[in-house]
Amino acid sequence: MSGASLLELREVSRRYVGREGPLGLRRTAVQAVQGISLGLGAGQTLGLVGESGCGKSTLGRLAVALERPDGGEVRYRGAPLWPDLPSAFRREVQMVFQDPYSSLNPRLSIGRIVREGLDVHGIGDAASRRERVAEVLGLVGLPPGHAARYPHEFSGGQRQRVAIARCLALEPKLIVCDEPVSALDVSIQAQIVNLLRDLQERMGLAYLFISHDLSVVGAICDAVAVMYLGRLMELAPRGQLFKEPLHPYTQTLLSAVPVPDPARARQRIRLAGEPPSPYAPPAGCPFHPRCPRAFAPCPGEFPAWREAAPGRFVSCHLY
Ligand code: SF4
Repeated sequence: MSGASLLELREVSRRYVGREGPLGLRRTAVQAVQGISLGLGAGQTLGLVGESGCGKSTLGRLAVALERPDGGEVRYRGAPLWPDLPSAFRREVQMVFQDPYSSLNPRLSIGRIVREGLDVHGIGDAASRRERVAEVLGLVGLPPGHAARYPHEFSGGQRQRVAIARCLALEPKLIVCDEPVSALDVSIQAQIVNLLRDLQERMGLAYLFISHDLSVVGAICDAVAVMYLGRLMELAPRGQLFKEPLHPYTQTLLSAVPVPDPARARQRIRLAGEPPSPYAPPAGCPFHPRCPRAFAPCPGEFPAWREAAPGRFVSCHLY
């Protein structure tokens, strides 16, 4: 994306090694993320989409420094995150998690939950923290009087509003949203997406928006990156990607997105077989065993990441 000065991922990789078998004697390794380069500028929203297990949540955790990459580099405002986090990072970069039921401590009041970051970072005194809590609860559409209540008194959508308020208390510049609406009812999903857009306009926030649902991503993102088996398949401005997806995997995902106008509906592309195991990814293009357009070079050669048109990147031998 243009203006990619806030968050930058350069050739980032992350591998997990574990053990399985009767005595844990068998060593297993999975390359969750491999060689990913992305950038995100202030006030922009980058969507990260792909099936479950494609590595998009790992990439989110790498972006907020909950994980350390074992290859490549993550930078915030031009400074590398490792070995020492840039000073403002923990305050300016926040995360909203998928499950609003488990991401809030049930023993703490909403006010305490929202205030926690201010306490940790030593921001303001008791009175100003109370004021800030009331202010951000108002920003997310919750009455400030709710600060004394506990998470079990709220619906899923309200809890996700509390999780967003917790981020806002610290005046972040970037929020990584990991499937923020997928645990919510469809009608509530739209409310939370609208709230995020509204907050972005008011506060100039940047979002890294992770979702398996392209229709949600289409409602909020400026650009979209598509992942498959730990790799990036395509990156494009949202409008271009939705109008004319280049990568066969993106074409498949988009063919499943419902459109209100039947005349514009795409023919659904059904993929053969299940996604390959990330423990034993296919050689060559990782998508080739399921790709309807696979041809001679696909099983043997990994397709390079290319700029197929201005601002449009793809990893596919067709381009
Ligand atoms: Fe399909 Fe080949 Fe392109 Fe992979 S490289 S997406 S298998 S056409």
